Amino acid sequence: MKSNSEEKYRVDCENNYHGDCAICLNKIVLQETALVKSCEHAYCVTCILRWATYKKESTCPQCKHPFEFLHIHRSLDGR
Ligand SMILES: [Zn+2]
Ligand SMILES: [Zn+2]
Repeated sequence: MKSNSEEKYRVDCENNYHGDCAICLNKIVLQETALVKSCEHAYCVTCILRWATYKKESTCPQCKHPFEFLHIHRSLDGR
């Protein structure tokens, strides 16, 4: 049986996530990554969704590229 912490550590080391969220400036948790489809900038799901609700038109906070869809990573932790 694998321990949970071991599994988390392994994921962190895989460099799978896209770095820091430009909205909250925290590291984006892999399972919480939302990728803007048109420009591939990555944010936390919660941050970009909150951002999108404040704006009439959803635009990428970094490059102002308008977007309608987000890629949301749901892996490992999935149901
Ligand atoms: Zn964030
Ligand atoms: Zn962008």
